[in-house]
Amino acid sequence: MSFEYFPPKTPEGAEKLRTVRRQLQALAPEFCSVTYGAGGSTQQGTFETVREILQEGVAAASHFSCIGATRQSVREQLALLSAMGVQRLVALRGDLPSGYGMGGEFQYASDLVSFIRSETGDAFHIEVAAYPEVHPQARSPEADLRAYVTKVQAGASSAITQYFYNADAYFRFVDDAARQGAQVPVVPGIMPIGSSSQLLRFSDACGAEVPRWIRLRLQSYGDDVASIKAFGLDVVTHLCEQLLAGGAPALHFYTMNQSAATLELCRRLERASPLSA
Ligand code: FAD
Repeated sequence: MSFEYFPPKTPEGAEKLRTVRRQLQALAPEFCSVTYGAGGSTQQGTFETVREILQEGVAAASHFSCIGATRQSVREQLALLSAMGVQRLVALRGDLPSGYGMGGEFQYASDLVSFIRSETGDAFHIEVAAYPEVHPQARSPEADLRAYVTKVQAGASSAITQYFYNADAYFRFVDDAARQGAQVPVVPGIMPIGSSSQLLRFSDACGAEVPRWIRLRLQSYGDDVASIKAFGLDVVTHLCEQLLAGGAPALHFYTMNQSAATLELCRRLERASPLSA
């Protein structure tokens, strides 16, 4: 399994994240990844967090988005990451805040993957993003799948999905991608459910579907956080069990820099059957 963090904005946040990492690293993740603000807005915080994770003796993946970037800026950042000992990247297009326009020398994540391969050969394990429920800006599901296949054929080593709560969407995506020639491992991204309003807001923005029955149940709990958490743990544990039983190669947890839900999910899954890397 692997864990995702975002770069903390304050010294208190950094300290809290160290505690979270200590707790989660006890589960021996294959790697931990750190998100990257599109346009390079968090570059320093991302790289600093990646450096700390490496110093803690855990493999770290830096997310890396290319929107607004130039070939020279990417080259320089790859050299920095390489010098830090980073061997794994999550290569993304990213989204610029509205008003920024596109700019830059890269249009799609596939352009970034090709560029990284042409500049650094096999130095990095490159993860790309996958969208079992279709990327929100895609022209059509078919076009999105073709874009994913292009990204894999540009040199991706494996993929991590946007989160979802419908296992069938994942299995169909994996089958369809394989049929079109993209056969790299596709690791489901798992979003624990901790807060109802945050999840619903976030899902609308990133194109992840919260099924009606989950949405209604969450709304019916109102401010009863304990019930939301208990329900969320049941739903997400069952999802993870379905995914692993159906052949998912591993799980990638969106921790949101919190340990409790991810720890409990992993404990439950471990009890059911030991988690693979
Ligand atoms: P692409 O693969 O380039 O796809 C973007 C859109 O363009 C899609 O609609 C696709 O269908 C379309 N497209 C792609 N290629 C073509 C083509 N050749 N012709 C026509 N259309 C095409 N965002 C961040 O800012 N920082 C992060 O750290 C971050 N981490 C993430 C981690 C994961 C695992 C995931 C799933 C997402 C993450 N995101 C992150 C969000 C991501 O940046 C956005 O979803 C972004 O809108 C798309 O990035 P992408 O790399 O998937 O883009």
